[in-house]
Amino acid sequence: MQVILASHNQKKLIELQAILADLGFSIATPKQLGIELPEVEEDGDTFEANALKKARSAFAATGIPALADDSGICVSALDGAPGVYSARYSGVGASDEANNDTLLKALSGVPDRHAWFACAIAFVDQAGEMVATGECHGTILHAPDGGGGFGYDPLFLPDGQAQTFAALPHDIKNRISHRYRALEAFRKQYAGQSV
Ligand code: IMP
Repeated sequence: MQVILASHNQKKLIELQAILADLGFSIATPKQLGIELPEVEEDGDTFEANALKKARSAFAATGIPALADDSGICVSALDGAPGVYSARYSGVGASDEANNDTLLKALSGVPDRHAWFACAIAFVDQAGEMVATGECHGTILHAPDGGGGFGYDPLFLPDGQAQTFAALPHDIKNRISHRYRALEAFRKQYAGQSV
């Protein structure tokens, strides 16, 4: 089944395709389908609200079953910040490096480094709507480590691992990530509903 991903993030697309490989979805970005989606303001208070808003908008605009995610990093010592503001933690259009610097400064001298990535996956088609969530807990390091991944990956050491998300091989990140867990939860919901 053709599915449109309400995102232009190629790295996310690669992760989603790998994780959902056996679901029978052919996932494509709007650009790959030659479609321009309307802009959606991510102004929800929760990852779920933002993901649903993006998936609803993409399905309404195209009629193609739409998948959207919203994700970010939540830090215990910062009362869950940056949370839904993760992408714009240092301002709209901020680079990953700038966001990582802002996070390190916010945690300067703070001993509690616990954090978790959170992800909501929303899927909207003619049959209805589904939202699923997942989390991955770990620790924020004092300096970036690793050249892979994206976003806050170089600062995030997942629980039970010896390397950051940016240093771990893709297939290992894909098996423990917040996005994997949200997609697994989505996959179970989807399969349950399709029976
Ligand atoms: P969005 O889900 O595209 O809105 O992204 C929110 C923010 O969280 C961005 O700054 C991403 O870089 C960051 N983020 C989301 N998922 C990950 C991840 O798996 N690794 C690193 N950063 C992430």
